[in-house]
Amino acid sequence: MSLSTAILVVSTTAAKDPQTDASIGTLTDVFAGDGSSQFSVDETSIVSDDLAQIQNQIMIWTDSPRPVNLIVTTGGTGFAVSDITPEAVTPLLHKQAPGLVHGMLASSLAVTPFATMSRPVAGVRGKTVILTLPGSPKGAKENLQAVIKMLPHACLQAAGANSRAMHAGGTSRLEKEAGVAASSSGGARHHHHHHHGHGHGHGHGHAGPVRHTKPSEHPVSNDPSLGPSRRHRESPFPMLSVDDALDLIAQQSPVPEVVNAKVDCSLVGAVLAQDVTARENVPAFRASIVDGYAVVVPQDGDLKAVFPVTAVSHAAPGEVGALKRGEIARITTGAPLPPGATAVIMVEDTKLVSMMEDGKEEKEVEIFADNVREGENIREVGSDIKQGAVILRKGSRISAVGGEIGQLAAVGVADVQVYRRPVVGVLSTGDEIVEHNRPGDLQHGEVRDTNRPTLLSAVEGQGFEAVDLGIARDRAGSLEEVLRAALRQVDLVITTGGVSMGELDLLKPTIERSLGGSIHFGRVNMKPGKPTTFATVSVKNNAGDRVVKPIFSLPGNPASALVTFHLFVLPCLHRMSGLEPPGLPKVPVTLAHEFPLDKARPEYHRAIVSVGTDGTLRAESTGGQRSSRVGSMQGANALLCLPSGPEPLPKGSRIDALLMDTIRT
Ligand code: AMP
Ligand code: MG
Repeated sequence: MSLSTAILVVSTTAAKDPQTDASIGTLTDVFAGDGSSQFSVDETSIVSDDLAQIQNQIMIWTDSPRPVNLIVTTGGTGFAVSDITPEAVTPLLHKQAPGLVHGMLASSLAVTPFATMSRPVAGVRGKTVILTLPGSPKGAKENLQAVIKMLPHACLQAAGANSRAMHAGGTSRLEKEAGVAASSSGGARHHHHHHHGHGHGHGHGHAGPVRHTKPSEHPVSNDPSLGPSRRHRESPFPMLSVDDALDLIAQQSPVPEVVNAKVDCSLVGAVLAQDVTARENVPAFRASIVDGYAVVVPQDGDLKAVFPVTAVSHAAPGEVGALKRGEIARITTGAPLPPGATAVIMVEDTKLVSMMEDGKEEKEVEIFADNVREGENIREVGSDIKQGAVILRKGSRISAVGGEIGQLAAVGVADVQVYRRPVVGVLSTGDEIVEHNRPGDLQHGEVRDTNRPTLLSAVEGQGFEAVDLGIARDRAGSLEEVLRAALRQVDLVITTGGVSMGELDLLKPTIERSLGGSIHFGRVNMKPGKPTTFATVSVKNNAGDRVVKPIFSLPGNPASALVTFHLFVLPCLHRMSGLEPPGLPKVPVTLAHEFPLDKARPEYHRAIVSVGTDGTLRAESTGGQRSSRVGSMQGANALLCLPSGPEPLPKGSRIDALLMDTIRT
């Protein structure tokens, strides 16, 4: 029997320099010796005295599809300000185990009264037993030894073993199996380590989740210094659904920052961070809607008569004299009405009767209009936009169509508060990658950088500033350096490549181990894009404040990189820029032909959506969907959300499509 066991060292010192840690070795020896090979230490990790890091690591071990049986933490259980292990672990426990706590404390109290200075907790999360041991290797060892004989039983029960069967022999059988003696009992007991051998059987009493393969020696990401033989042979990251991944992105996206912006064409694409009210009325004066003659409407509305033209009002600023009954004033579209005028008669409803001596000006004009109402052909003050009214709501996006800029311009709003648009860095990784435009033939093994040009364009096309971070080589040091520099310069980093299972896939280890970032997910159940990785790193900005910056490490294959950009990076950028709703718009479409399905993973099939003859939207495949084939994105304006399944989806099926570009007509 082998209970998979994880050791979590909580120590800010050891996190910086793993060489200083002695606990992993000590505890591994205790598991091997006192644990009489019932435990296999499959996972170890070192984190700082940081609540989130502790919880993150524990949850990766407990909440994955194959949880470990036991987690022991060491460190952070004292009274120092930085000691927070019990505070991190307690909220994760579904069940408390005060007995184990008591067992540990009682044994160490027998050694030293300083045992009272440890604040251990123990319990069960899901199928995993969790214990917090003190930080000193000696204390940790003694505490573990105090309870280790009981742990197999606890672990198997926690893992869901049938407790009736386990307890069938009564406590004495259990004690015997655990190799412990009840202190009240006088009988001699053998320290006989009974190997249950139940772990592998299904339907057995002790059907604990026993691993058939050891995932690896290391916690989450690979430790690159250990070389290819020690890398994970299976990703240790839980496989998330796309929806769960999007939820995590939603939770972890930095909140948008508010800045002032000028109202000009650079505002296109920005999102307002305030309600904007009209500074002025539009129109600011009573204006004519037509070219014609301003009149004073009589009671009966009958204006059929010949009138003298006493004034002219052009659309030009300035004063106009008052109009009296019986007089008319020629007026142009948009020009201010003379005071006293109550309507405007269109020029089409009039006829010139006589001219001035010089032959240049009108003298008399006949009007053919009755039933004229006051206000006819007049735009009243504020009738288009009322001063003080809210013209644009917080959260509105300034489009290039012009309506929003127009509203702002019309009422004289020159500056607005908007959400600052994130600056995005794009980095390619890989020793084989060369500049896309490098002259000459490729050497054997070289690959032209496809992802940087595509992603830089996609980022800018979506209205964000893009920074070209170049190509990083597959060496941890250079990657770390490039990323550190990038995090100073940009708000969000996109990398491609280096997230597969090869020994030179350094993104995850570098983010986690060198940059102290948190990886929120490292595997998604989708095609293409399975190894998509999302992390955040906390860095100091220029003002010295800590800010969180997301890193999206997308797969290296060009089609995967573009699909996952649209699916995952874009919603994060939208959130960071205040845009609602985030992400691509989803519309229902009809399949124009049969579509094959992947048996295991939901697929984001690149397609061309157009308006069919019946007016509904139809979708056609762009052809071969291999993740290396960037041509699958050529001409594509949509990602079809295909479920996994054994049979192809027939022509005519209705399916959701995420629109990346405008619909074809
Ligand atoms: P990796 O995840 O680094 O193993 O990359 C997966 C595949 O994508 C490999 O075939 C890489 O050569 C390829 N690849 C990685 N980055 C790029 C890039 N920037 N442009 C084109 N292909 C790439
Ligand atoms: Mg690579």
